[in-house]
Amino acid sequence: MNLGGLNDLYRQLIIDHAQHPHHHGELPAASQTITLNNPTCGDVIKLAVTFADDRIEQIAFSGEGCSISQASASMMTDLVQGQTLTQAKKEIQVFLEMLMENPAASQDDPDELLGDAAVLAAVIKFPARIKCATLAWKALEQAISEEEAHE
Ligand code: ZN
Repeated sequence: MNLGGLNDLYRQLIIDHAQHPHHHGELPAASQTITLNNPTCGDVIKLAVTFADDRIEQIAFSGEGCSISQASASMMTDLVQGQTLTQAKKEIQVFLEMLMENPAASQDDPDELLGDAAVLAAVIKFPARIKCATLAWKALEQAISEEEAHE
């Protein structure tokens, strides 16, 4: 794969998702609402999730921040809406491992599991931006663990 092409794909997908984020908004009847911020960049993600039958029935995010934080939230919500908690937890794990340079922990291929979000692997080259990319995923991880704690 040509690195220049990968960078173009990375840039274009980030721009598309940041300018036109999917699942952007509020869920008044959410089961869990988690707000996380990344003070080093000023990103805020407020994630609202409705759970039903061990699935993510509906998910939406609001807040503000840099293009990477917004694009990552858009990609994440696209990926997990309708999925089981087991599947979503696996994807969170693979995503966080992808950005922590910890490939030994998982045999799973981010390209197969993560959809558009797999392009965020490129953020590993910009260590100051990793927290921007992981913020929404950590919010989902927290929403799922709160939900499971209350079952
Ligand atoms: Zn940021």
